Amino acid sequence: MTQLEAARQGIITDKMRQAAEVEGIDPEILRSRIAEGTAIICHNNLHKNGIPLAVGKGLRTKVNANIGTSKDDKNIDKELEKARVAVAAGADAIMDLSTGGPIDEIRAAIIRETTVCIGSVPLYQAAVDTVTRKGKAMVDMTADEIFDGIRKHLDDGVDFITVHCGVTRATVERMDREGRIMEVVSRGGSFTVEWMTHNNAENPLYEEFDRLLELVKPYDATLSLGDGFRPGCIADATDRAQIFELIILGELTQRAWAAGIQVMIEGPGHVPLNQIETNIQLQKRLCHGAPFYVLGPLVTDIAPGYDHITCAIGGTLAAAAGADFLCYVTASEHLRLPTVEDVHEGVIACRLAAHAGDIVKGVKGAIDKDIAMAKCRKNLDWEGQFALALDPAKARRLRAESGVDEEHGACTMCGEFCAYKVMNERKEKQADAG
Ligand code: SF4
Repeated sequence: MTQLEAARQGIITDKMRQAAEVEGIDPEILRSRIAEGTAIICHNNLHKNGIPLAVGKGLRTKVNANIGTSKDDKNIDKELEKARVAVAAGADAIMDLSTGGPIDEIRAAIIRETTVCIGSVPLYQAAVDTVTRKGKAMVDMTADEIFDGIRKHLDDGVDFITVHCGVTRATVERMDREGRIMEVVSRGGSFTVEWMTHNNAENPLYEEFDRLLELVKPYDATLSLGDGFRPGCIADATDRAQIFELIILGELTQRAWAAGIQVMIEGPGHVPLNQIETNIQLQKRLCHGAPFYVLGPLVTDIAPGYDHITCAIGGTLAAAAGADFLCYVTASEHLRLPTVEDVHEGVIACRLAAHAGDIVKGVKGAIDKDIAMAKCRKNLDWEGQFALALDPAKARRLRAESGVDEEHGACTMCGEFCAYKVMNERKEKQADAG
C-alpha cells in the first residue's frame, strides 16, 4: 500500500509519524493532507538510509540543491563534496543530475553518504547511455530504454523522479504557433521535443503514463511532473506553452492520484516579479492543490554571476504565495557547473527565501526564530546570534575579521555608540532609579 492509499484509508504510517514529528505537527493533520494530495511523503521504499520528507500545504518550505557531473567535469569526489556541503548548509533534498563519468556510481555514492531526500531525472542518463554505451543517436532511444532507465533509478532508492510527461505534441504545436524567444530550456524537455520531432511520435511518458504509474507504485516514489516548457527568460513567462503544459499536468495529477501515486508539480523558471503570485495560484488551481516545486523563479535575466540572488528574490515571493519546495539556483547558473562554494551559497540563499516565505505563510515556529534573533541582537549576545544565523560560520567569520569591540560588546559599525548598548544602559539607569 502506498502512503497515499494508506492516508486515504485513515492509516497513519510510520513515515507519516516520523515526518510529522520533524515538522512539529499533528500526524493526523499530515495524514489528511496526504489523503487529499496537498502534501506528500517523499521516500522510496528502497531508500533504506533515507529520512522521509514531508512537502506541501502548511509545512516548512523545503529546499533542493542540484548537483551532478557533466561531460566536461566528471569528478565524483567533487560532486560528493557538494552533496556534503549542501546538506551541511541545510538542503532538504539533493537532485543528482549527472550526465558525465560513472553516473551509476555517483548516484549510489550520493545516496549512500547522505540521508536527505534524493531526486533525479532518469531521462538524462537514458539519453547519455544511448549515445555513450549503445553507440546510437539520442533520438534512437526506445521507449523501453526510457522506462528501463527510470526503473534503474528507482531500484537505487531515488525518492522522487522528474518526468516530463506534459511535453506533448499538442504543447509543442502551441509553442511553435505562438513563438518564444528561448523555446525549450529544460534539458529533459529539449531531449523529449527532439525525440518526438525526429520520430514523429508522441512522448512515451505521456502516451504510456499508466505504464509509468505501474512502474513507480511498488517503490512508492513521488512523481515530480516536470515543466519541459518552463520559461527560460522573463519574456516567455506565463505563455501558452507553459500554461497548456500545466493543464496537462493537472490532468495527469488526477490520474496518478487515482492510481495511488503521490505527485508534485515543477514550475518556472524565469518569471517577472509581478507574475509570480499568479503562477502559484494557477498551479494550485489547475493541479488541484498538489505541492508545487519551483526552480527559482529568477526575476530578471541580466544577473549572471548573481543568480542565487535573483532566485532568492523570486523564491521568497513564490514561497510566500504558496510554493512548497524551492530548487536553488547558484551564482554559476547559465555560466558553468557550480563549485562547492556556489553550492553552499546557493543553499543558504534559497533557505533564506524559504524561511522568509514561511513567515508569511505562518508556518509553525518560523517567526519564533526571528524573534529569538532580535532578542539576541538587542542583548548583544553574539553566540546566540551565531547559533540562530542561517550561515553561522560566515556570521562568526565576518565579526572576527573586523576586530571585535570587546570593551563595549558591540561591533565595529558604531562601537561605543551602539544603539542597543545605549538603550540597554538607559534601561539599567531607569531600573537603578527605581
Ligand atoms: S554597533 Fe551598531 S551595527 Fe553593531 S550591533 Fe551595535 S547597533 Fe548594530
